[in-house]
Amino acid sequence: MANASGAHVGLSSTEHVSAGILGGSVGVIGTLLGIEWKKYNVRQASECCYCRGSGHLVCGQCLGTGELTLVNAVTNKSISLGCPTCSGMTYITCINCKGDGRSVPNFLNRKTSRDPEDELEEIGMG
Ligand SMILES: [Zn+2]
Ligand SMILES: [Zn+2]
Repeated sequence: MANASGAHVGLSSTEHVSAGILGGSVGVIGTLLGIEWKKYNVRQASECCYCRGSGHLVCGQCLGTGELTLVNAVTNKSISLGCPTCSGMTYITCINCKGDGRSVPNFLNRKTSRDPEDELEEIGMG
């Protein structure tokens, strides 16, 4: 039980990581680091880092204004056009998650998040 909670709580900060390495058992710590890194990635991946889970991004073409201003170099007159990139919507569907808000599909996320537990059991840390 102590091992399980230790493995769970530990390595969530760099201080814990370095303390663990200094304490010895580099091999186990190395393995745990790999597992924790995977967990960390899964946690980060569960919410799309591009749109932060909203599923859309501010249009980079019009910067969220929905229109483009063109200046005629000769007459110096400016005209506004509806932004062709977002069709005047001011935002576009997130290219990373395709509007899903998650950077990985749910089934994939579940699979990778279960893997670390299996590995923990394999090395007797579960
Ligand atoms: Zn736009
Ligand atoms: Zn996204």
